[in-house]
Amino acid sequence: MAVFRFDPCGIICIILTYLAVFYADYAVVEWMVIPTMSQSLWGAFNVVCFNTIVFLLIMAHLRAVFSDPGIVPFPDNNLDFSDMHSGAGSPVNKEDWTVCSRCETYRPPRAHHCRICGRCVRRMDHHCPWINNCVGELNQKYFIQFLVFVGLASLYSVAMVVISWTVDCTDCKKEMVFREHRVIHTVILLIESILFGVFVGAIMCDQFQAILSDETAIEHLQKKGPHRPRKPKMALLSEVFGRGSPLLWIFPCQSPPRNIENLASYEV
Ligand SMILES: [Zn+2]
Ligand SMILES: [Zn+2]
Repeated sequence: MAVFRFDPCGIICIILTYLAVFYADYAVVEWMVIPTMSQSLWGAFNVVCFNTIVFLLIMAHLRAVFSDPGIVPFPDNNLDFSDMHSGAGSPVNKEDWTVCSRCETYRPPRAHHCRICGRCVRRMDHHCPWINNCVGELNQKYFIQFLVFVGLASLYSVAMVVISWTVDCTDCKKEMVFREHRVIHTVILLIESILFGVFVGAIMCDQFQAILSDETAIEHLQKKGPHRPRKPKMALLSEVFGRGSPLLWIFPCQSPPRNIENLASYEV
């Protein structure tokens, strides 16, 4: 189910994200690589590498934005809440399923209601304006990939600034104005890279901590510690990144991880 919600804050954040990404690409290629490395293969290599990271970043971002985060479907028939406490009428007769009064539906364990999306989301972590979507069971992988590629692009930009200022810039010697513009772009690129780099680094740490402790951000806030049996770290990671080889976890092109067992319980 492709979803896109018209939340002004989310739409502004998405526009800012793309402005920042395209500006960084422009500044790295036009003002760092071309003036100092255009004569060598090393320059072409850097342009290809940086643009590959940008391409993967955009792929992961679009998937995080447009994927279904794991929205709990509405029931076919209205629920009869008089039966709620007896458990009768529950579609699965599982004790740990709860009822969302706003969606008027039964929801599986670890699903939470998002006020911005107006729906319950399976294993909801948080609603992220930068992807204008919830981070939930089915799109957390793309969200983390997006963070990883933003982090890589930030590190790469800083490295390009450092390298390009240590080699001779032929155009800078000829024109003072060119040199001044290059300084301005360097400062903006450095500030942008450091801000975004630190920001995504912090969120990435939180995300991996949440996955490895088997507790989403919401569960952590509600202090509902995991009462589930402890699982090995690799099992917890593959619940998010899919059951394929860990070497494929970084590519935003694999089908989303699905917990077949839980999804089957919807077929009621
Ligand atoms: Zn709900
Ligand atoms: Zn949401």
